[in-house]
Amino acid sequence: MSRKKDFDDVQELRNGSLGVLGGEGSDFLEKVKTEVKPEGIVSTCPCGQCGRPQEITVEWPEAVVGSLKLLAPNWNFDEPSGNIYANVGCGSCNYQLKLLFSPNELKRHIMTAIQQGDVNPQDIARLVADTKQAAGLR
Ligand SMILES: [Zn+2]
Repeated sequence: MSRKKDFDDVQELRNGSLGVLGGEGSDFLEKVKTEVKPEGIVSTCPCGQCGRPQEITVEWPEAVVGSLKLLAPNWNFDEPSGNIYANVGCGSCNYQLKLLFSPNELKRHIMTAIQQGDVNPQDIARLVADTKQAAGLR
């Protein structure tokens, strides 16, 4: 029997099934609460360093850019997980709050916002078209 192996299996399952956990800092990421609101995707989580609650809002233009597998200004690509994150620091201690999103996850949140009536589908369509044009996509 091997406890080490069991533990690895659990880690793989967690990363695989959720697709948003990076490894380092994943305990902190598990405490994230995400809500879809008119102003954007609002995530609340305790800072991984000082523990103070932080609120991060991904505004719809950023969410649209991310859902198209592109990086909005001030966003970075997290190579190990294949996800993207906004470059936001804790308001108290400046610790990097690495809140990972996958493009599909952002797309789902956008669809939820449209269904809830939080955003106008035409505004989203325009953002998609503008983003694609700016990136040279069609
Ligand atoms: Zn902090």
